Amino acid sequence: MTSVAESSDYVGRDRSWSRSVDEVLAELAVDPTVGLDTAEADRRRVRFGRNQLRAAKRRSVASIFLDQFKSVVILLLVAAGGLAVLFAEPIEGLAIFAVIAINATIGFFTEWRAVRSMEALGRLGRIETVVIREGLVKRVPAEGLVPGDIVICEGGDIVTADMRLIEAAKLQADESTLTGESMPVTKMTEPLPTDTPVMDRQNIVFKGTAITRGSGKGIVIGTGLSTELGRISELVTEAEAQQTPLEKRLDALAQRLVWAVLVLGLLIAAAGVLAGRDTYLAIEVAIALAVAAIPEGLPIVATIALARGMWRMAKQNALIARLSAVETLGATSVILTDKTGTLTENRMTVTAVRTADADIAMAGSGSVAPAVIAEGAQEPQGNALSLLDELLTAATLCSNASLSVEPEGAVQGVGDPTEVALLIAAAARNIRRDALLEQYPEVLELAFDPETKRMATLHAKGDATLVAVKGAPETVIPICSSVLSIEGAAPLSEAERRDWAEHAARLGERGLRTLAVAQKTTSNAAGDAYADLMLIGIVGLEDPPRRGVKDAIRQCRDAGISVVMVTGDHAATAQNVATELDIVAAGAPAERFVEGADLARFLADADLTDLEAVRVFSRVSPEQKLDLIDFYQQHEQVVAMTGDGVNDAPALKKADIGVAMGIRGTAVAKEAAAMVLEDDEFPTIVRAVAQGRTIYENIRKFVVYLLSCNISEVLVVSIATIVGAPLPLLPLQILFLNLVTDVFPALALGVGEGSPVLMKAAPRPFDEPVLTGSHWTRILLHGFVIAATVLSAMAIAVFQLGFDADHAVTVSFCTLAFAQVWHVFNMRDDIRRLIKNEITRNPWIWAAVAVCILFVLAAVYLPLPRDLLKLSDPGAAGWLVIIGMSFVPLAVAPIVRLIAPRGLAP
Ligand code: ATP
Repeated sequence: MTSVAESSDYVGRDRSWSRSVDEVLAELAVDPTVGLDTAEADRRRVRFGRNQLRAAKRRSVASIFLDQFKSVVILLLVAAGGLAVLFAEPIEGLAIFAVIAINATIGFFTEWRAVRSMEALGRLGRIETVVIREGLVKRVPAEGLVPGDIVICEGGDIVTADMRLIEAAKLQADESTLTGESMPVTKMTEPLPTDTPVMDRQNIVFKGTAITRGSGKGIVIGTGLSTELGRISELVTEAEAQQTPLEKRLDALAQRLVWAVLVLGLLIAAAGVLAGRDTYLAIEVAIALAVAAIPEGLPIVATIALARGMWRMAKQNALIARLSAVETLGATSVILTDKTGTLTENRMTVTAVRTADADIAMAGSGSVAPAVIAEGAQEPQGNALSLLDELLTAATLCSNASLSVEPEGAVQGVGDPTEVALLIAAAARNIRRDALLEQYPEVLELAFDPETKRMATLHAKGDATLVAVKGAPETVIPICSSVLSIEGAAPLSEAERRDWAEHAARLGERGLRTLAVAQKTTSNAAGDAYADLMLIGIVGLEDPPRRGVKDAIRQCRDAGISVVMVTGDHAATAQNVATELDIVAAGAPAERFVEGADLARFLADADLTDLEAVRVFSRVSPEQKLDLIDFYQQHEQVVAMTGDGVNDAPALKKADIGVAMGIRGTAVAKEAAAMVLEDDEFPTIVRAVAQGRTIYENIRKFVVYLLSCNISEVLVVSIATIVGAPLPLLPLQILFLNLVTDVFPALALGVGEGSPVLMKAAPRPFDEPVLTGSHWTRILLHGFVIAATVLSAMAIAVFQLGFDADHAVTVSFCTLAFAQVWHVFNMRDDIRRLIKNEITRNPWIWAAVAVCILFVLAAVYLPLPRDLLKLSDPGAAGWLVIIGMSFVPLAVAPIVRLIAPRGLAP
């Protein structure tokens, strides 16, 4: 047999299902305990390529540069420049080209940064795979897998390459991504007949599918495009950069403006000619204005702002999967959050146990405490302790967790924290899982089912079978027919069942997570495990609320975002934690709480007011989470939803913002989510929402700023034309302002850090346009104020200072230039705060202001630009007018806001 080391055309997936594990290992020349070494992996990567379905398309520097010239506006300018060079004033034509060059350079650098930043962000969220290489267990990016790699997989993982299984323990995979069939497929390692169809190859796991439970090891036989997914998938297209809804809207806005501006340009040119101006000048003015009014940089600035926001969120432990999620985050109106681990620490400790004969307060602590019984609590008598041991034994058997106990008592638990807590409590009573399993080997596990909220394990006990069950009291107590007491098993009456359920509810009211533990010994191993059980008792586990959550919930309330707990836990437990965290007020009315069992009825009858009242949904199954999201969405809410398990994936996908937990979450959940919290902390969601709002408002500020500057120029020229005054702005001056100076403050606005005001207003309606009526009013008013100021400055220069028309143009140009620079400070959220606000705190703004001042001074005092822009030294008196008048729009801004308010929202 040729090994992969020699053959160059190896296609690993061919017939490996029909060969034995040893044959496949030999063919791929790998020892499963050692794995490949790095050098060999690199060699194979060169031969077989990276393990990816889409070739990452890197935009080259040249293409980014060329894209700067692919706009109507630039082409228009090039034409104008060309005409000028050929027919009228060659120097002016060259100046137009210089302006285009400067603008293209700025555009190039901003876009280049945005593109590279996006690429780097793409690398942040890469999926990792656990492999054995060079004898060590390592995490490597899934893209780096090569045929022959030995991969370790377990429940919750995404399969990252096609693999022939070499070990499988209770391994099941959800292959619905490939087959559409949602029932998990059981996997094994034995060879299969050669003609087994792809989807029946049970000894292979396929790229893109999910391991739902169990664990195993596989050897990679196909990567990237040579996987089944690669062959059938439509994903095999080049990654197209997708526009986010916001970018699309901005694009549409820019498009609409183009038409409006072209019409306007024509009108102004016609008016100019009618007013007796030189035709060439009239056309040039029209072109310059058209260029002025077309905010063609809008989409790219949006991209920059979004990408920067993503970086900032990543630094705060919120990894965003898609750019579009950033803007959706800002509109989030409801956060549906799970409880355990997100609102609470997920550090469980058993603190209460009830058996038929005693209530035992356990000494809850994270390690094996020498004292089992809580201090001050009544010491149970010998027999009561034996019932406790029975309960802990059954709970220990019915488990997937493991525990290592060090001599000084410190413990290291692996697995579900609920189960680890039970193992710790058991270890304190000297009950160890490994010892128990020797006595009662496990035969079968009926894994925890989040729908029924219980699990069972079957063990050999001599000739009979021992069934150990644990789960939510509501689902375990009803299937018990007897109860264990000191005297032995006694029948369980209906009244006693109610009594036990009430007791469980009381534990829940103390905020404890509750579990009932039961068992039976049966000779019929094939019978229903969940019937005819003997109840041993109830356990209460404490899980303290996380620090910082209460604060974050208050911030949400201020920001008009509803926080709703959606949990699989008992109603009473949920209610207690919700009250403690201020999700509901103490003594809140019943309509704040809905139980899973009543959910269908509730959703059928409820309207938005009912829905808005609810703060806690308890005993909810993963499927019901989908219904809930659907219902909220139908009521026009933007829903963020947290989750961590494989079962949560559909809900995470369906939510507007699926939020997966980075530490606790499965790879499947992370894949489905739009955002991954690296620290599993609820407050991180709130910070991300704040960022989302900031980014959206920054983009708005940017648009409002640019448009009001542009409008002011259009108004200055139009009004002067209408009243027959000399032109206060020459075409090149307009270009200079728009393509050079305005750009800097606008870009700086795009990357601001935002203000606290943003989290005091209600979320923006999702379908609200980028610019509302009130924003348009502001744009017009600001534009009008600036234009009036510039025309007045020019009038003062002519009539008061006696400047001639040419000289006066310097005054109007400089007044406009500075007024526009100061105008950036009018973009603050809270108009009352002139000195201390998010704009003055933004260092980029100050840099932009400095650059603009320098540019204007250079234009006035350096010979070449001065001649080109036809400027002259305005002298002390001229400067006085310029500086004085340029501050007028800053002073008038509060009045503009008064006329066009937007409630609390900026
Ligand atoms: P949360 O919103 O708090 O994260 P969840 O929806 O993840 O909750 P589950 O972990 O499904 O809730 O737990 C729901 C109930 O199922 C628990 O209250 C408990 O009674 C029971 N339960 C949880 N874990 C186990 C387990 N490992 N074995 C048996 N029963 C369990």
